[in-house]
Amino acid sequence: MEKKDKVIVIGLDGATFNVISPLVERGELPTIKKVLENGASAHLASTIPPLSSTAWASFMTGMTPSNHGAYDFIIKKQGSYGSKFLNGTLIKAPAFWETLGSAGKKAIVQNVMGTYPPKPVNGYLITGFLSPPGAGYTYPATFQEEIEQRFGNYPRAPGTSVPPGGEREYIQQVFDNFKKRVDITHYLLDTKEWDLFVVVFEATDILQHAFWKYYAEPQRIGKDALFIQNAIPEIYRRFDVLLSQILEKIDKNTTLVVVSDHGFNCLHKVIFMNNLLMDMDLLTLKKRPSTQLKKLCLKYHLNAETLVTIGEKMGFKIKGAAIENKKGQQIANKLFLSQHDIDWKKTKAFSVGVGGHIYINLKEKESQGNVSFTEYRELKAFLTRMLENLKDPETGENIIKEVYQKEELYQGQYASSAPDLSILPHEGYFPLYKEHFISPSFLMKPSVSGGHTLHGVFIMYGKDVCKGVKIPQMNIWDVASIVCKIFHVDASHMDGKVPDGLFV
Ligand SMILES: [Zn+2]
Repeated sequence: MEKKDKVIVIGLDGATFNVISPLVERGELPTIKKVLENGASAHLASTIPPLSSTAWASFMTGMTPSNHGAYDFIIKKQGSYGSKFLNGTLIKAPAFWETLGSAGKKAIVQNVMGTYPPKPVNGYLITGFLSPPGAGYTYPATFQEEIEQRFGNYPRAPGTSVPPGGEREYIQQVFDNFKKRVDITHYLLDTKEWDLFVVVFEATDILQHAFWKYYAEPQRIGKDALFIQNAIPEIYRRFDVLLSQILEKIDKNTTLVVVSDHGFNCLHKVIFMNNLLMDMDLLTLKKRPSTQLKKLCLKYHLNAETLVTIGEKMGFKIKGAAIENKKGQQIANKLFLSQHDIDWKKTKAFSVGVGGHIYINLKEKESQGNVSFTEYRELKAFLTRMLENLKDPETGENIIKEVYQKEELYQGQYASSAPDLSILPHEGYFPLYKEHFISPSFLMKPSVSGGHTLHGVFIMYGKDVCKGVKIPQMNIWDVASIVCKIFHVDASHMDGKVPDGLFV
């Protein structure tokens, strides 16, 4: 009897050939070298902008953002200036493991971003990043007990703030976290029945955000310099070991896919879109004294972030993972210049979300909208020109590579709630967003040194995959269609396509 086709998809949050290729050449990633030579690969285009929330949603649904609606980590509420944090219920298309599950395929899904709250699968699921602490994180719910009996609490990824002087401990913590998750992956591979196995690891993203400058400028010195400089190559080497262990476990009917949601490069400055819109007189603050006082405080860098930093330097442990600390955010929003200080009746454009997306305050759409449809086009054209020509005042460099109109990027069924303008920044720049204003100017030095870039990694290796082929153009939403094709399951409802020349 012919053996069943199986697929294992390993996701790396933010992996890049910029790091992989030199390591492969130096012989430090022997397994990746082998699968690259004997399989297919591509510089995988992420979503625009390359945000993990949106890119993983496109990965799991096979859909472009306007067909799943997860435009950002922070999603604007329709008809309101408020926002909500992304969770799985806001991703409005089925995951490919659900499509395959309906066709009888058994799936194990571990740690994919946006899978909380856990939805039923034909198999087992452990939710990923954005799962609230303490909440049930598995399907079936009883599966959590099995995991915790063997491994203790599921290891949550460390936050991105590295305590100064504590770099070594922090890196070790990321490695340990990776190891614990790998142990769970092995356990699931060995003990459960599956046709499809999907697992995502975040360690690459965490270490590249925190330590890119040490990787890119290795002349830095200090007590732990070598260990810190080595952190990024080391996580790729550890991943290579995992791949070799997996290849030993699978048979020739199993196809291996490695995919990352975006690439990485240095990050020099972060862009605060609402500050920029304020500078352009398109976002207006209230005239009331309290707002003006807060504006003055911001000018002298007296804001929530600064106070937290000062507090931490004095030894107080204030900052949790910011996104989990909703109450803290609410207090900061009241005390410091925030959305509450915006005079919506006079505001023409505003940004919601960490992707730097811009919404026009349309009369027909927003509760206090004041832009008519006739003004809308002109305003968008003006903003597009301004953004395309936006320069870093310090260096004179262009900041934004491309500005996209809503119609260009978003034509799917949730296009009506899509941002009016979206941007792709030049490498070295990336938007940052907080509900309260944390910087007096629109550019700021970031607290991390690595940032997301458009092109991630796609590697595929298996009996039906072309050997040594490089696919010239591929999008992250193509991956789901490719996996469905291996199982001969119809994926025509997806936006993704199977690229020519991938299969023999
Ligand atoms: Zn990231």
